[in-house]
Amino acid sequence: MNYISTRGNNQKISSAEAIIKGLASDGGLFVPDEMPKVDLEFVTSLQKLTYQERAAKVLGKFLTDYTEDEIKGCVERAYGGGKFDTDAIAPVVNLKHPSVLELWHGPTSAFKDMALQLLPQLLSTALKKTGEKNEVLILVATSGDTGKAALEGFKDVDQIKIIVFYPENGVSRIQYRQMATQKGNNVCVTAVKGNFDDAQSGVKAIFSDVEFNKELNEKGVSLSSANSINWGRLVPQIVYYFSAYADMINSGRITAGEEITFVVPTGNFGDILAGFYAKEMGLPVKKLVCASNTNNVLTDFLNTGVYDRNREFFKTISPSMDILISSNLERLLYHVTGSTEKVAGWMKELAEKGRYDVGAEVLAKIQATFGAAWADDDTTMKMIHHGFECQSYIADTHTAVAWDAARKLIHGGTPEKVVIVSTASPYKFNESVLTALGESIEGMDEFQLLDKLASINTRAGIPAGLASLKTAEILHSAVVEKQDMPKAVAEFAAKK
Ligand SMILES: *Cc1c(COP(=O)(O)O)cnc(C)c1O
Repeated sequence: MNYISTRGNNQKISSAEAIIKGLASDGGLFVPDEMPKVDLEFVTSLQKLTYQERAAKVLGKFLTDYTEDEIKGCVERAYGGGKFDTDAIAPVVNLKHPSVLELWHGPTSAFKDMALQLLPQLLSTALKKTGEKNEVLILVATSGDTGKAALEGFKDVDQIKIIVFYPENGVSRIQYRQMATQKGNNVCVTAVKGNFDDAQSGVKAIFSDVEFNKELNEKGVSLSSANSINWGRLVPQIVYYFSAYADMINSGRITAGEEITFVVPTGNFGDILAGFYAKEMGLPVKKLVCASNTNNVLTDFLNTGVYDRNREFFKTISPSMDILISSNLERLLYHVTGSTEKVAGWMKELAEKGRYDVGAEVLAKIQATFGAAWADDDTTMKMIHHGFECQSYIADTHTAVAWDAARKLIHGGTPEKVVIVSTASPYKFNESVLTALGESIEGMDEFQLLDKLASINTRAGIPAGLASLKTAEILHSAVVEKQDMPKAVAEFAAKK
């Protein structure tokens, strides 16, 4: 299997090379040039396996240039060794209805760990396989969760350095502490004045600055990405759709072959796109529902075929979904149209006018698989309250957006065949969660908030990674203007 750019520069490379490069040289994203297919027997064969074994089987379909042993080693180092607080890694919790796929049992209590524990392993294996001598500098723009998860995944990994940019006032207090206290000899954490899109477009500009990259290369450094545009970020996420399906059969919620619907809280379109790959491969998926907050650019796109980022940007209580440019949508457009020319055209329009229209035919194809709904902050808070009252389940603010979408779109259907993808531990967004539950939080610091939530949440205690922040020292305090991001990168790259 080869990988090509969504914008069609005719270069075919292996998955290891795609993972090292991150972004194609024409600005496109790497996609597999064929879709691997599986049958129901493959799916049911996963039922008895551990998460690691399931992962090895699914990854093997895409990473055809990695040996079986290489993949097994990567998966063990990523998900083994007690880094996750449950052996199930990504457990499915069956409420009365729906079911909840919990993706936040990793070291940073958010779903980004699912991919960012594995990506560094895939990358360091790729460097060895391809004989790459350069040092790789991972460049990340984060709206909060990616940054910490990437730092945890890459810290002290040989031949790799990592620099993370986050919007100065765009992350929660817990997220700030998680990043500012990051240890490791190869890490740099910097705030940017602006919102997430400023940080992300700043990073994209650095990647596409040919001259800047040439200068770094001459010093033995190549840039790569850990954002969800990297194929090595996306491919680990396909696994948990298969794993959830196997668990749903195991628990008797479904019989093998029955279709289920996933409802996914969406920002950059990475998580839900992984579900699309699973469906295209042959996993029995009925619909993928894209759930957004007030930054509902994707809801509008999925309803009208017009993607228009020319709109007000809102800061919401689900900050990891505060995004106006959902990068991974580009991959979906490629797979639905099979046309790199069309994709390149739309992406050019997006860059120049902030808007493109895919037309009725493409929209109909997309709508055959994707549904969409959105919730404002108030509705999200009510959903958290209602979810706890009716089902004793405390959802975080992102998960609650999906839960609300599930309620809106799936009434009258068979709600027990719906899986909500839960992307963060409620402890991570404790302020909003406690407020939604009707608790008074006045004057409480982060750690009192955690204790308070623990006194209510009988299902799960405070995650170890969050509890330890109390005594951790602040190690990073740099703030830069957007235009100074390249300078920050160059300085860190030169640091021995
Ligand atoms: C990143 C993130 C999302 C959005 O996922 P995408 O892959 O960007 O669509 C949702 N919830 C949480 C908690 C996240 O960290």
